[in-house]
Amino acid sequence: MDYMSRDEIAEWRPDRPDTPEGMLARARHRMESTGQWRKGQPMGRRFAAGCVALEITQRCNLDCTLCYLSETSEAVRDLPLAELFRRIDLIHRVYGRNCDVQVTGGDPTLRRRDELVAIVRRIAALGMRPTLMTNGIKATRSLLAELAAAGLVDVAFHVDDTQQRKGYADEAALNAVRRAYIERARGLGVAIMFNTTIHRGNFEQVPALARFFVAHADAVRLASFQLQADTGRGVAGARPALITPDAVARQIEIGAGTRLNFETPVGHARCNRYAAALVAGGRAHDLLDDPALVADVLDASTDLVDDRRRPGRALRTYARWAATQPWLWRCGSGWAARKLWAMRHDLVRGHGRMNKVSFLIHNFMDACALERDRIEACIFMAMTAQGPVSMCLHNARRDSFILEPLEVEAGGARRHWEPLTGFADAPARPRKVIAKGRSRLPPPPRA
Ligand code: SF4
Repeated sequence: MDYMSRDEIAEWRPDRPDTPEGMLARARHRMESTGQWRKGQPMGRRFAAGCVALEITQRCNLDCTLCYLSETSEAVRDLPLAELFRRIDLIHRVYGRNCDVQVTGGDPTLRRRDELVAIVRRIAALGMRPTLMTNGIKATRSLLAELAAAGLVDVAFHVDDTQQRKGYADEAALNAVRRAYIERARGLGVAIMFNTTIHRGNFEQVPALARFFVAHADAVRLASFQLQADTGRGVAGARPALITPDAVARQIEIGAGTRLNFETPVGHARCNRYAAALVAGGRAHDLLDDPALVADVLDASTDLVDDRRRPGRALRTYARWAATQPWLWRCGSGWAARKLWAMRHDLVRGHGRMNKVSFLIHNFMDACALERDRIEACIFMAMTAQGPVSMCLHNARRDSFILEPLEVEAGGARRHWEPLTGFADAPARPRKVIAKGRSRLPPPPRA
């Protein structure tokens, strides 16, 4: 592996902002130069970034054993709204409409409610697609409804046993939390997703988790599995050798009860694995089992936008598009007939209803072992004051970004803002800071 040196990590600069067309061309060039360009590859063809994280607070109401925040995060003041609006505009300027923007933190629901709503509204007003990334504790039905009205497209709940929620011994027990969250968001017109960190303690439970998501495919659009990484203030350290993207994919297949094709390209192959299943009558069937057909469809439909808020409308859009593609009738009708035949009993059992659930395996890197080609081909960016940067690199060097003083244009005046104290011209407001992650561990014994 070609790992980045400490100096290289320290000197790495955010991407120089360009137009969306320029960013797309740059993304394609990076895919080519890192050997990741092939048929069906959406990066550089459909988008220049899979998603962009906008961290609106560094504070969190949990203390996960694999947290990516830093030991200083809790002491950092929330970025001023004017700076966040500037960053949203910058995301729009470089990635354009339809960019997926993750409103994240820390936990974004700790931000003032009116500010969180204004952030989501601004992202949506620019034609981009906001996702709320939350542990769900403060994401009440009423907040989710208000955010949905402001234009929220997805809510991604992070639930797993690294969070050490009291009264939940394992992932099976946490399904009660997942069910409650599904009901909170159901019917609001936002797509529901779940994030699960996979580590040595819950790896064996992945099949049961996959079964849960298949059983709730009527509501859950995406189940994302994020592999243990030694980065940030988390205390659990590096992952054991048995946890690999391939091993997690096999575990998901066991739970889904079917083979799933995890080879559809999404950015760098060592970063992401993606699969999708059609679910009828409670049983999963691989949606992407014809890789050549999938690649042809993806390449031919790069301009289509998947409306995640309204699956019915998305289906109609694809159907209308498919009706104009004679080549697809030839190649796709055989596949569709075979699929429907294989699903016939499940469709009868499920009264003709069919849902789709996707599985994503995301292979974050340890902070001290960043692979250069993956950082260059990264599809998961974080927006900094200067521009977008790979999330793995951002996590490895988080303090250099979050402790940066800023000049903020607010209320027609330029104001100096310090991350630990706030606006220089505002009265000082002392805050109690709670130690989290490694900083709460007892110091090592003296030699
Ligand atoms: S954040 Fe890390 S693991 Fe994810 S796509 Fe970027 S480089 Fe790969």
